[in-house]
Amino acid sequence: VPCKEPPKILRLDESVVNRIAAGEVIQRPVSAIKELVENSLDAQSTSVNVVVKDGGLKLIQVSDDGHGIRYEDLPILCERHTTSKLSTFEDLQSIKSMGFRGEALASMTYVGHVTVTTITKGQLHGYRVSYRDGVMEHEPKPCAAVKGTQITVENLFYNMTARRKTLQNASDDYTKIVDLLSRFAIHHINISFSCRKHGAARADVHSVGPTSRLDAIRTVYGASVARNLMKIEVSENDEACSGFKMDGLISNSNYVAKKITMVLFINGRMVECSALKRAIEIVYAATLPKASKPFIYMSIILPPEHVDVNVHPTKKEVSLLNQEVIIERIQSAVESKLRSSNDTRAFQEQD
Ligand code: ADP
Ligand code: MG
Repeated sequence: VPCKEPPKILRLDESVVNRIAAGEVIQRPVSAIKELVENSLDAQSTSVNVVVKDGGLKLIQVSDDGHGIRYEDLPILCERHTTSKLSTFEDLQSIKSMGFRGEALASMTYVGHVTVTTITKGQLHGYRVSYRDGVMEHEPKPCAAVKGTQITVENLFYNMTARRKTLQNASDDYTKIVDLLSRFAIHHINISFSCRKHGAARADVHSVGPTSRLDAIRTVYGASVARNLMKIEVSENDEACSGFKMDGLISNSNYVAKKITMVLFINGRMVECSALKRAIEIVYAATLPKASKPFIYMSIILPPEHVDVNVHPTKKEVSLLNQEVIIERIQSAVESKLRSSNDTRAFQEQD
């Protein structure tokens, strides 16, 4: 057979490139909300309120009382790779803020309609401005504002038919959003969070900070969870694990659930770690007589240079130096905690 001519390689339009990238960063409504809430946290807010309509497809609104955005910065706010958090690549090694890529807001403007209302300290009024495809649609308009920033995203994925179709189940996405806010609320116990459906009188997540971790868990996950938790702590300073600390709350043998709940923060970032999750499930199944799935809250601190935060487009995963050793330490701490609480119980039952 005669060989066909190779297809010609063309450079994609910038607008196509941007929309493809945006679809990766903003996978579903809940990813937009995670980015917006993390921006509010980075802005030192003490209160973050979320409103959602139609599972986030019609409307997402995140309001905070943080430091706000300068008027002069509004023109480039939603351009790709504009950020106030990172300047050199080396800064990534020690980055404390949740954001660093300057991509979240830009992405939202390529797959939805973004409006920003913001006021900075000492100003008499705020500004409101809408964005499309990275750019302002008009000059910022002066408006009344209290403190901080409110960002709304309307008609998410209006220009991505396939994505919209796969996200038809609004209740499914709202569940993910409530779960997200619940996790933030029990980690950031100095901050008040709320999450409600548009027009609903009652919030589905409502925490008031400052509070204790246990009270936050009681408020968000309920008394039956909070009642059955034990404190756990590990801190190691040997070579393999120098600077590693973990503290958390884990369920005891009275806790009953069909599914594991694992709320994990590493260096203040909400992440997933399936290897750690599996390791903990194994310990519970092996140690407790009636093996219920556990509730786990853990906050792990590692030297920043041991954590690579830039391995996932949504920053959902991080990669750790010495991951196996760290998982082993946690596994054995959980096991001894479970054993000692089981022994105490057996001892009490003999009395
Ligand atoms: P990143 O968080 O990676 O910097 P984003 O696209 O999420 O990128 O945000 C761009 C910039 O907009 C941030 O660096 C920050 O300066 C500003 N910003 C976004 N949201 C807020 C907010 N809620 N309050 C104050 N500033 C904000
Ligand atoms: Mg951000």
